[in-house]
Amino acid sequence: MTAQMKFAIQSPIDGSVVGEVADNGPEEARRAIDRAAAAFVSWKQTTAYERSAILRRWLALLVEREQELARLMALEMGKPLAEAVGELRYSASFVEWYAEEAKRVYGETLPSQFRHKRLLVTRQPAGIVYGITAWNFPHATVTRKVAPALAAGCTFILKPAEQTPLSALRLAALWEEAGGPEGTFQVLPALDPVPVSEVLLDDPRVRVLAFTGSTAVGMRLYERCGRTMKRLALELGGHAPFLVFHDADLDAAVREVVACKFRNGGQTCVCTNRIYVHEAIADRFVERLIPAVTSLRVGDPLEAGTEIGPLVNARGLAKVQAHIADALEKGAEVLAGGRPIQGLYFEPTVLAGVRPSMRVMQEETFGPVAPVLRFRDEAEAVALADGTTYGLAAYLWTRDLGRAIRVAEALEYGIVGINDGVPSTAQAPLGGVKNSGIGREGGKWGIEEFLDIKYISMALPPTA
Ligand code: NAD
Repeated sequence: MTAQMKFAIQSPIDGSVVGEVADNGPEEARRAIDRAAAAFVSWKQTTAYERSAILRRWLALLVEREQELARLMALEMGKPLAEAVGELRYSASFVEWYAEEAKRVYGETLPSQFRHKRLLVTRQPAGIVYGITAWNFPHATVTRKVAPALAAGCTFILKPAEQTPLSALRLAALWEEAGGPEGTFQVLPALDPVPVSEVLLDDPRVRVLAFTGSTAVGMRLYERCGRTMKRLALELGGHAPFLVFHDADLDAAVREVVACKFRNGGQTCVCTNRIYVHEAIADRFVERLIPAVTSLRVGDPLEAGTEIGPLVNARGLAKVQAHIADALEKGAEVLAGGRPIQGLYFEPTVLAGVRPSMRVMQEETFGPVAPVLRFRDEAEAVALADGTTYGLAAYLWTRDLGRAIRVAEALEYGIVGINDGVPSTAQAPLGGVKNSGIGREGGKWGIEEFLDIKYISMALPPTA
């Protein structure tokens, strides 16, 4: 047997190597499916109460090891420590929620038109789940899938993003420490996601694909899964609009737009990519936005007080620079920032004079760049917000209750924040419409992705 290949994980902070992991391929994928299939036989027989108890122990370990896990995340992908702790708490809240939700997978009985029949509807675990996750939330994108799948009685094979396998491996090690049975949650890092994924996607024993990543990759996986008719939960890209109406509380809107846009250095699927402000207040809004953005502290994610760390890698930095160069070439103006600092660090940036033909308006920049645009009235604001193929999250700022509901209902998005720039929470459904995906993570909806419905019709023997 040849020794398994490994690959190194480089920190975006300074390029240093922070770990090395096994580079898994088709052979390891086949073995993982065999193990997951064997584990499923007994895991699906456990009671919801038994699964819930292990999830609770896992939760306790995640809470206990919070500082260690946050540091690893900061080193691995550059998230500032305080934000990494925030993600860990958010991520752990899904484990807590699904430890509870495991016990609420109810069945139903249906009235029959025949006296001798009893009609039952039950929910059963779908089987082996293949999960693929993105690097920008190395814990939350994992627990949002793994916790409900394990709670439902499924077994799980995860291929984490090649940038953040260390966090995923720690999560699985803690699951094992909590008493998670062998083979129920396996992690297969791979430098090239394709060979390992092809085996998992084509194997009919794998019944669900749960994916978080870009729309382009999600579409490819969607097609491939048709061959084995897998169930799909696809959490894809977004291009979130942020609408500020003339009656908005300007200070609150500025504060929240900064939190929404610059969280994780702008590398978030739900962070706003387009800030639309009513023309009557646009100048005042920008006057307040610029100092709020230029005062953000960019620096070492491990240092207390850092608000923005480095971009994840050279490709991420190049995309940010390309988007700004394209916007400037087509007539936009930089109102703040706009330049690289050093290494993978980039100045938080505000752009004005942005037009629909610019790349910042069509693609996810995935960096600290805030384009500000103007609108004339409500109808135009909604049309501009909806003028995209994405439909993940949208935000609106107003004090007018009628407008708030009217606009929220009109927006073609899976998530709408009304005077709220950070709406995600474990008990609510997270997911998009249009090219932002299929299915939901979180709440009572998140566990349904991993449950098959079975209808049982029972005819009673005739009474003597
Ligand atoms: P990406 O699609 O390039 O990669 C995501 C994952 O898919 C990684 O694990 C990667 O290894 C894997 N992958 C890539 N190509 C593959 C292939 N051909 N076959 C199988 N697996 C493959 O995305 P990214 O740029 O690394 O991540 C950022 C994207 O994720 C953004 O578009 C962002 O909006 C999205 N995202 C969405 C959510 C959500 O909840 N909707 C959350 C976080 C991130």
